[in-house]
Amino acid sequence: MPGTPQIEARSVGKKFGKFHALQGISLGISEGEFISLLGPSGSGKTTFLTLIAGYEPVTTGKLMLEGQDMTTWSANQRGFGMVFQGYALFPHLTVAENIAFPLKVQKRSKAQIADRVAQMVAMVGLAGHEDKKPKALSGGQQQRVALARALAYEPKVLLLDEPFSALDKNLRGQMQEELRRLHRELGTTFVFVTHDQEEALALSSRIAIFNHGELQQVGTPDEVYERPANRFTAEFLGDINILSLDQQAGGIAGTAVDLPTNAAAFRHVAIRPEHMRLAAAQDGNRLPARVRDRVYLGSKSRLLLETRAGEELMLYFDNGPGMPPPDPGSELFVAWDTSDSFAV
Ligand code: ATP
Repeated sequence: MPGTPQIEARSVGKKFGKFHALQGISLGISEGEFISLLGPSGSGKTTFLTLIAGYEPVTTGKLMLEGQDMTTWSANQRGFGMVFQGYALFPHLTVAENIAFPLKVQKRSKAQIADRVAQMVAMVGLAGHEDKKPKALSGGQQQRVALARALAYEPKVLLLDEPFSALDKNLRGQMQEELRRLHRELGTTFVFVTHDQEEALALSSRIAIFNHGELQQVGTPDEVYERPANRFTAEFLGDINILSLDQQAGGIAGTAVDLPTNAAAFRHVAIRPEHMRLAAAQDGNRLPARVRDRVYLGSKSRLLLETRAGEELMLYFDNGPGMPPPDPGSELFVAWDTSDSFAV
């Protein structure tokens, strides 16, 4: 990352009483990034966001903004936009009044406010709804108002805490598209908390993965998915096949397969199901297995396999023209490219 990060956490820790909610978090966020904070429930994502926002003080470490120490600054001094899980709109104010609110606080002129509100309403696709109160809007529309309100005064940084968690799947997809578009158009830095792996992979320029209050890995979506730093990240980010290494036999029990070069230091080898294929007997890098179960999923079938060592594997079979998927009970070989496997 060239230059000074816009936001930087330096060894940040947070304790609630004796409980360590966050420990040793060091993370730089560049201007214009869309970074997701991803992790299971209770991993510390929201806590980290509230520390960046300035709603809670850090217990240890420092927070920097464009090279300046902002650790003790109030939320107001930081001036970041914030969109919460709920919509947190003012129920007695109309759409236009909600969006105008932060601009009034900033004492902008009436004409300026009217212009900006019209611009924001159009940007989030709510033209015609300006005079409605929040309760007359759908969940997705309310979240759009919350986004428009947070972006109205052009904050340099927008913090979003699971903004779409209350929306159904379709609406969630639409709002994700909307957010990507807004990010592209505005170039504002987005820091986005989610526990949804697919959402993080689809939206972010980088993902920071949290577990038990510690940062596990930071990287682009394909880095963290294809090259997870540890077993937690590998398992958290999607389906994964994990095979034990039998060091005495020099490989995986019962077969001859190439192993990733760093395998010697680890106990397991991991391969994503989409990188596994059914193989011919003469394929070099292969593992014998038996089909235990087959689930028809339309365009694909999911095969559950068992190796000779009794370990489970999963892979997807394309139900196109050509070979039908193998029946349960079939003995076959699976193969993968060594470069697609990693040691964990
Ligand atoms: P979720 O996805 O469920 O929101 P999260 O990763 O955002 O989870 P946090 O809300 O940051 O998790 O919470 C991290 C841990 O800190 C949890 O164990 C939580 O109970 C604890 N915690 C958070 N806020 C407080 C508080 N004000 N007082 C005491 N403990 C807290």
